[in-house]
Amino acid sequence: MVLLKYDILNIIFLSIGIIISSIFFYTLIISILEKEYRAVKVSFLLSITTISIFLTIHLYNFKHKPIVLIILLSIIILLVLILFLPIQFKLSPKSISSPQQKHDERDIIFSRNELIPETERFKNYYKNNPEKELIDNKFRSKPGLLSPKSSFYEPFSYAAAHANLQLIEVLKPHINGEIAEKKQTVDASKITNYIKNWGKLLGTHSIGITQLKEHHLYSHKGRGNTYGKAITNSHHYAIALTIEMNNEMVKTAPQGTIIMESTQQYLSSGTIALQIAGFIRNLGYSAQAHIDGSYELICPLVAKDAGLGEIGRMGLLMTPKLGPRVRIAVVTTDIPLELSKTPDYSSIIDFCRICKKCADACPSRSIPFNDREKTNNTLRWKINSESCFTYWCTIGTDCGRCMSVCPYSHPNNFLHNFIRFGIANSYIFRRFALIMDDLFYGRKPKSWKLPKWIS
Ligand code: SF4
Ligand code: SF4
Repeated sequence: MVLLKYDILNIIFLSIGIIISSIFFYTLIISILEKEYRAVKVSFLLSITTISIFLTIHLYNFKHKPIVLIILLSIIILLVLILFLPIQFKLSPKSISSPQQKHDERDIIFSRNELIPETERFKNYYKNNPEKELIDNKFRSKPGLLSPKSSFYEPFSYAAAHANLQLIEVLKPHINGEIAEKKQTVDASKITNYIKNWGKLLGTHSIGITQLKEHHLYSHKGRGNTYGKAITNSHHYAIALTIEMNNEMVKTAPQGTIIMESTQQYLSSGTIALQIAGFIRNLGYSAQAHIDGSYELICPLVAKDAGLGEIGRMGLLMTPKLGPRVRIAVVTTDIPLELSKTPDYSSIIDFCRICKKCADACPSRSIPFNDREKTNNTLRWKINSESCFTYWCTIGTDCGRCMSVCPYSHPNNFLHNFIRFGIANSYIFRRFALIMDDLFYGRKPKSWKLPKWIS
């Protein structure tokens, strides 16, 4: 009888070893498919080591073996419980609250970059903001975005990015348009469902709806023909949509392929926003698309309030399944819509507090290492957009290293979603997941080589 119990114990022990080893083997297969070669090596070693240890103990008979097996099995069960029980010791306060003062689009770095020296607009801006002139001279002294003189110049990807930007220019005059005279009677729930499903068909990763709030809007236009115009958007709703950026292209950051990919997804998200806005106008309601370079609002803030994610350490929207590896566009409208739920994503904030991988990898040291600070009635991490943009103007691309190393940016598949579930579920798992991410992918993962068809 005692012998039988011992045999069962021995078999259970080996079975657990096989399960753990298989998990590492599964990780190995996924890592091969994802071309994550460091993770392939680590999973291989862990898989072989685990099965060897468990098999050796299983086969080797020694004194007090049943007791040792019971102790080892208890430790394993305890570890699993500690990792997977929904323990939340200290969750960060839920996100930022509402900014009190609106941002002026003229102050953002992209608007300042569009100022042409010697023009009235240029002189007026720096007359009113003399403290910014010296700082901005730094990026003006660099070759500039997509310049052939920039350090990551590569003719094909730069030409492709240019083509995307040229097409975005074609879209811009269509962000607004004529509204059909006949107003259709619509049901808020039905039309919301329609837009969400159509959006999915068109290629969006996620769509959410929020009330359009004052703090979403810039105070004044900072780009294009309407420079300096006060923004008076009175729409009631904002539809935020995200588009996935290709993982392999993002992994090559900060080389030319990253700007090729980001402009591609600005184009795709902008096209879909235009389609949705046009669709709504055809139903007899007002709608305006907010696309790259033609914004009246701050997209990440809208997307956050539409339940699509949280604002992370690098200042971008962190979606629960793709992290920052998305581009956003928005449609504001008056058509009746159903508001989206806003899940509690404070686990993302807690993970960002301990992770700091983007701050470590940032070549211009523009991402803060400290905790969130209160500015303009909001609790947030504020990146140094000037040093970041100066780096962009030096290398010629929009860098994206922060996005490419972020643990949330891993592909949207079972393995990574299971880890994301653990991260959202448990304070302890978050700490464990970070150690594992560093082990499998490196603390500062290397930039990938360009795909063969480009290099
Ligand atoms: S890299 Fe880490 S700290 Fe940075 S945004 Fe991603 S999860 Fe947050
Ligand atoms: S884009 Fe590059 S330079 Fe800018 S914050 Fe991210 S890593 Fe730093």
